[in-house]
Amino acid sequence: MSFQTFNFHPSIMAGVQALGYVTPTPIQLKAIPPIMQGRDVIGLAQTGTGKTAAFVLPILHRLLPGPRGVVRALIVSPTRELAEQTCEAINELGRQTGLSSIAIYGGISMSQQTQRLRRGVEIAVACPGRLLDHLWKGTIELTHLEILVIDEADRMFDMGFLPDVRSILSCLLKPRQTLLFSATMPDDIRRLVREILHDPVTVQIGRSAPAATVSHALYPVKQHLKTALLMELLRHTDTESVLVFTRTKHRAERVAQQLERAGYNATSLQGDLPQHRRQAALDGFRDGSLKILVATDIASRGIDVLRISHVINYDMPDSADAYTHRIGRTGRVDQTGDAFTFVTAEDTPMVHAIERILNATLERRTLQGFDYAALLPSTESRFPSRPGRRPAGQRMLAHRR
Ligand code: AMP
Repeated sequence: MSFQTFNFHPSIMAGVQALGYVTPTPIQLKAIPPIMQGRDVIGLAQTGTGKTAAFVLPILHRLLPGPRGVVRALIVSPTRELAEQTCEAINELGRQTGLSSIAIYGGISMSQQTQRLRRGVEIAVACPGRLLDHLWKGTIELTHLEILVIDEADRMFDMGFLPDVRSILSCLLKPRQTLLFSATMPDDIRRLVREILHDPVTVQIGRSAPAATVSHALYPVKQHLKTALLMELLRHTDTESVLVFTRTKHRAERVAQQLERAGYNATSLQGDLPQHRRQAALDGFRDGSLKILVATDIASRGIDVLRISHVINYDMPDSADAYTHRIGRTGRVDQTGDAFTFVTAEDTPMVHAIERILNATLERRTLQGFDYAALLPSTESRFPSRPGRRPAGQRMLAHRR
């Protein structure tokens, strides 16, 4: 099956080709036809499945004819990173269409966004809070809206944005086409779906999609040895880009600093950083100048880097869904990846929950030569400088328990 089957306008096909997409992903195959028919769609798919293009391509196709300079499509995103990334996808896929987009989120000047909106855009990708600010100030006009996308609805709910989303919805005129994408369907999202979608088509991509290209391993370790184990793993592993997840912002920053001090090309990405530093971290990670990004779950939204070879859960995520989302950052479309998770004794219930969702028992590994009995690890003295990169193909010295 190729992209020709969708009969996109040639200017949109040019974008598809420019990005090197050859075959539609399963979510694209299932979601694009009903979206093109104007149906409301529920897309049950997580990031890494190609869901962004699944709604961006039909939106571009729909907006090609018709008025310009007014907002006709609105995509509501939970985080600024995801909003930026969606905007980038629109710009790249729609380069030849002359359609323009804006990312709207807090933490940066509102007047710049207002000016851009005044100059005229057709697609707005917005985080709920800042979008409401614009709606209340009357600096965004949504009376011409034809299509609304609620992206990563479950994450929006997790982050407490559902009341804001409802306020936004109350400002919009009906009828319009509505699409809702979510990796999971908690009850609150189900209720929202019943209220706002009209006779929707549901398309679902199984959880196994990203997992199939990712190999998972657990590393049982005591809490105080995690940083030492992380460094030892990095030393023994042939990696490209590595994404490390911690539970808290403070830990993300501390672990990144420890890695940096040991000579690694690392930085942190967490919600307390000012926007310019978040963007610099993402840009560096994307262009490969930063090899290791230590992030919290919330900051991880929108990290779209194809070369992530390893996701390392320094801390266990707090839900099985969060695990699926984190590991979806590696093994992205057609790539393979490794997911390593450090587990302490308290993590056992979560390990079982993840194993249930993956329908598999995860491999427990120990790292040869690592001192699991150490009492007071001094990472500085153990790892004074960045060790040389192992030759390609030389994989980890790990063995099964
Ligand atoms: P997403 O799930 O939207 O975050 O997309 C994950 C990654 O897959 C992004 O880097 C996209 O550029 C890429 N992608 C989307 N569709 C395709 C496709 N049909 N073929 C190859 N890569 C794709």
